[in-house]
Amino acid sequence: MGARAAILLRMLPRLRTLALLVVLCAAVSAGVFLVAHDLLGTYRLALHVFSQNEAAYAEFGTVSAEVAAGSAASARSVYVPILVYHIVRPSYPSDSAAVRRLALTPETFDAELSHLSEAGYRVVSFGDLEAYFASGTPLPAKPILLSFDDGWQNQFTYAFPILKKHGFSATFFVFTNAIGRRGFMTWDELKRMREAGMTIGAHSRSHPYLTKIADPAALWDEIAGSKAVLEQRLGVPVTVFAYPFGQYDPSVVADVARAGYRLARGDFYAGGMVSAERPYELGAMNAPTTTELFAKKFPAAR
Ligand SMILES: [Zn+2]
Repeated sequence: MGARAAILLRMLPRLRTLALLVVLCAAVSAGVFLVAHDLLGTYRLALHVFSQNEAAYAEFGTVSAEVAAGSAASARSVYVPILVYHIVRPSYPSDSAAVRRLALTPETFDAELSHLSEAGYRVVSFGDLEAYFASGTPLPAKPILLSFDDGWQNQFTYAFPILKKHGFSATFFVFTNAIGRRGFMTWDELKRMREAGMTIGAHSRSHPYLTKIADPAALWDEIAGSKAVLEQRLGVPVTVFAYPFGQYDPSVVADVARAGYRLARGDFYAGGMVSAERPYELGAMNAPTTTELFAKKFPAAR
């Protein structure tokens, strides 16, 4: 054996350690990047929805009983508050202010649903609304609609069992690229909710601002593509869409109609009046995050 070979042989264990260290470092930094990226995305989403929340509260308070009563006069227009929930889980001390203003504890969510029953509200589905628009199938008195956005895992873990306990149905708007990703629901979980009577709605593929997409093919793919993926994987028609960030314009609405959706949930500023003449512009509001505020927005007497 030559001297050079002998030196190499002696160095081998050290080289192996070095290689191991390099691989370890790469893995850790990749992990840190992924977590940071995910958190940043969640935070951005939370911030945006939070700003909508503030506006929705301001607007919602102005919807009066007279407006609700007046709706009976005009055909196929009805007062149906569409509530939007995002996060239902125990609160953590590390939660940012934005997340905290957007999240409900399971106890609060449970209390809100109890309040709805006690105050005489009847939870309806987008299917009920569609039937009312299409053929006048009557809705119950004091109808209200529950929806969840983005497909967060905590919705399956915490909100789904509470919905079942109350016998309420809700619609879960998911953006398809996130399904199965860390922190989001899996296809199997979506199927289980669907089988339990929940509705799965489309919320685009990648959760972009649809109004900012210049390429018509890309816009179409976000709208029609997400519908196709959901229908293929869940084996049921997907007829309701929610615009990411509640943002839409005429070309977005045209694609939503052309893709075959029957209804679409729009911005967060409308007070709850929905009309058959505008099935792709159903206004919504973020659900109040405290039981007190919730009971004030949805009183027993209305
Ligand atoms: Zn969203």
